[in-house]
Amino acid sequence: MKRAILIILTALFITPALTFAVEPAAQTPPPTLSGETEQATIAPVPPPPIESGPVAVPEPSEKAVRYHRGGLWIWLFEMAFGLLLPAAFLFTGLSARIRDLAGRLGKRWFFTIAIYIAIFSLLSAVIELPISYYTDFVREHEYGLSNQSLAKWLKDSLLSLGIGIVVSALFLWVPYLLLKRSPRRWWLYTGLLAIPFLLLMILVQPVWIDPLFNKFGPMKNQALETRILDLAARAGIEGSRVFEVEKSADTNALNAYVNGFGQTKRIVLWDTTIARLSEDELLFVMGHEMGHYVLGHIWKLIGFIAVLILITLYAIYRTSGWLIARYRERFGFDSLADIASFPLLILLFSGFFLVAQPVMMTFNRAVEHDADRFGLEITRDNRNAATAFVKLQQDNLAIPRPHWLEKMWRASHPPLGERIDFCNEYRPWESGQPLQYGHLFREGR
Ligand SMILES: [Zn+2]
Repeated sequence: MKRAILIILTALFITPALTFAVEPAAQTPPPTLSGETEQATIAPVPPPPIESGPVAVPEPSEKAVRYHRGGLWIWLFEMAFGLLLPAAFLFTGLSARIRDLAGRLGKRWFFTIAIYIAIFSLLSAVIELPISYYTDFVREHEYGLSNQSLAKWLKDSLLSLGIGIVVSALFLWVPYLLLKRSPRRWWLYTGLLAIPFLLLMILVQPVWIDPLFNKFGPMKNQALETRILDLAARAGIEGSRVFEVEKSADTNALNAYVNGFGQTKRIVLWDTTIARLSEDELLFVMGHEMGHYVLGHIWKLIGFIAVLILITLYAIYRTSGWLIARYRERFGFDSLADIASFPLLILLFSGFFLVAQPVMMTFNRAVEHDADRFGLEITRDNRNAATAFVKLQQDNLAIPRPHWLEKMWRASHPPLGERIDFCNEYRPWESGQPLQYGHLFREGR
């Protein structure tokens, strides 16, 4: 189900997520962080002995290696499937038939597009159901990462699908209108309009969409909250911006993130993370998130994605013509402005994005590394930062040092081994070197 929605306007609809950890399992489906699984008891683990010196990067467990290997195959399979499915819609003429049906039902142009997109999304979701059921639900349970009930999984999946359809129906007519009116410049106008669209989505996601999936509230542990708010105050962030989310209803994994912008910008801590990390480790995690917040990473990400979208749309503009000219008979349409071209847009978009993925991931890793640096500079707590990453590796079944090829295409965050190494090494304050972000927060010690 994930894929169907992801696809809908991958173009216009990539929600930037600035998280602390790479999510276990596959990518997070836009429009929201749903579909992960769930948790219950967090196994108490003895605290690491208090000692000094560097924190060792643990070897991944046999279970983590298996989980990782399976995840790689699933990733490759989903990638291929994400290209084959829209191709099948096109080459069988199914897309053209859906357009005919939508035209008969909708009569008017606007409704035809909305109905087409609803039928297309539903069909894709049904076809992908076995895959998402296995990857999001069965497999996550097998590995103890999830405890989510089947009912919640179904509910969240349907909700994601519904939101995807509603948002697409509301906005997809815009690029199609531009395609009709401006066959030569539609890519430019669509790319530019994608920016306010992204901003709108990021603005409403924390207040309208996320609460449909999980419960949000203030921090429950008052003593911890006080310490976090002190840290936030040092970074110039208002305390009302810190939230706790009940992710334990979905997953055993650990994470935290920053999202929203303007009035809705906020830092969110998963309750699983609170349960599993020590207070000092949590403070480093919050330092990392505050780094995203203070360094304006959401803006940087939006700018970067907007450029990527523009380039991709231009590439689609340059390549779609000859594909349509060559296969118009089989496709059943002869212009990109025909809504039946939607799978072609998806196909080309996915293809070009796959090629651009290493650039995207490199950018993302750089941003995450900066947030780690900020977290270290504001807390100066190298040891707890490193042990937080060790727990992350263990609980999320992560691999500390993946193959470089995999890092290039899949790693949105620096591999945990590198993050732990950095936490061990980075202490400019000990040798009197200037801090990179010292001007962005108040000294607290
Ligand atoms: Zn982060």
